[in-house]
Amino acid sequence: MTPPWRPTAEITARATEAAPAPSKSAASLRPYRPASSLERIDPHGDPEPMKLDWNESTLAPSELVLERIHAFLKNTHHLNWYPDQHASALTDSLVNYTGVSRDSILVTSGSDAALDVLCQTYLDPGDEVVVPSPTYTHFLAYAGARGARIKQVYGAQPFEMDLDSVMAALSFRTKIVYLVSPSNPCGIVWPAAVVARIARKVPQAVVIVDEAYYEFSGVSAAELVETYSNVVVTRTFSKSFGIAGLRVGYMLAPQAVITDVRRIFNPKSVNVLGQIAATAALDDMEYLYSYVNEVSRAKPILAQWFAEHGMEARETAANFLMVKVPHAGTFVQLCEDEKVYIRDRSLEPQLERYVRISVGTIEQTQELCARLERVVSRMTQLAHSA
Ligand code: PMP
Repeated sequence: MTPPWRPTAEITARATEAAPAPSKSAASLRPYRPASSLERIDPHGDPEPMKLDWNESTLAPSELVLERIHAFLKNTHHLNWYPDQHASALTDSLVNYTGVSRDSILVTSGSDAALDVLCQTYLDPGDEVVVPSPTYTHFLAYAGARGARIKQVYGAQPFEMDLDSVMAALSFRTKIVYLVSPSNPCGIVWPAAVVARIARKVPQAVVIVDEAYYEFSGVSAAELVETYSNVVVTRTFSKSFGIAGLRVGYMLAPQAVITDVRRIFNPKSVNVLGQIAATAALDDMEYLYSYVNEVSRAKPILAQWFAEHGMEARETAANFLMVKVPHAGTFVQLCEDEKVYIRDRSLEPQLERYVRISVGTIEQTQELCARLERVVSRMTQLAHSA
C-alpha cells in the first residue's frame, strides 16, 4: 500500500534548502563527546566488561528496587499515564533522607536536569559564572548554552582547594558559582563553612554545590539551603544508588529558588520507573551503606596497586581514583583491549597524563588489578619495542 505521506515534489525540493543554524551560544560550544560508547561495550562479552569511565555504580541496584519495578509492571502497569508530577512518594522519602523540608526539594531527571534548569532560570547572555576547575564539563555546556561568560578558576594545585583564587574571581557581576563536592575529577571537598563564605560574598549569585558523590564523602552543604537564600545543592541516584539508567536526581534549595525554577521546570520529566526505583532505593539504606563501605575499602587497594607499579594514584573522597600514567592515550587503549573502560582526563589543563578510574567492590578491584597487570606488561613491551 502506498503511504499517504509519500514525498511530494514540494517536500523533496525543500529538502535541499540550507539547514537551520544553531543559536550563537550553541554554535560556540564544542559537541560533547561521550566518554565511552556503549556500542563498543558488549554487556554479555567474555571477559565481562568493567565500565569504569562514568563513575556509575558497578553493581545492580538493591533487590528491593528491582522487586518494586517488577511489581509495578506486573500489577499496575500504568505506563500510559504521565508520572506523578509532584514525585510525592519520593519527595517524602527525601525529606527523611536529607533532613530538608518538602518545599525545598525538587526531584529532577538526573542531577544534570537540575543543573540545566538552574542555568535556564538564572542566566542571561553575558552573565558571569565562576567555576573552580578542572570540573564536571557538562555544566559548562548548560551555562554556555545560555550565553554566559564562564570564568574557570584554576588553583595553584589541581588537587587542593584554592579558596583565595575563587574569592578573588567573585564580583558583583557573578550570577552563578558552580562547586562540585567532592569535585569531579580531582576530588576536592567543599565543606559547608567554606560554601557559606562564598555565599556571603556574592549574595546576588546562586551558589550551586553539586554533590553527585555525596554518599561517598559524607560531607554536605545541605544544611545551608534553609539558612542561606542563595545556596543550592544538587544530588543524584546515579552513583551510589545504582540507577543511572533511570535518570533521577534532585535539588535542595531555598523555597524562593524552587518557586523560580518551577517557572521553567517540566514536572512530567521524571519518569515513573525512576520515581519508583529511587523511592525503593531509599528504603534499603543497608544496601547503600554496604556498597559505599565496599568502595571505600577498595580505593586504597587499587591506589596501592598503582603505587607498587610506579604510578602515582590519588584517592578521592568520591568513587574514583586519578592516576598519572606514562601515556594516557596508550593506557586507555590497552585497558580497552582488556575490556576495562576508563576515562582519559589528560587533555585538561593541569591534568597531563591523568586518567580517571571508577572504583567498585573489593572483588571487582581484584579482578581489575589482574587485568591491569596485563596492561602494564603490554606497556612495558611497547616501550621496549619503541
Ligand atoms: N555532576 C557530576 C559532578 C557528575 O560527575 C555527574 C555524572 N558524571 C553528574 C552531575 C550527572 O549526574 P546525573 O546522572 O544525576 O545526571
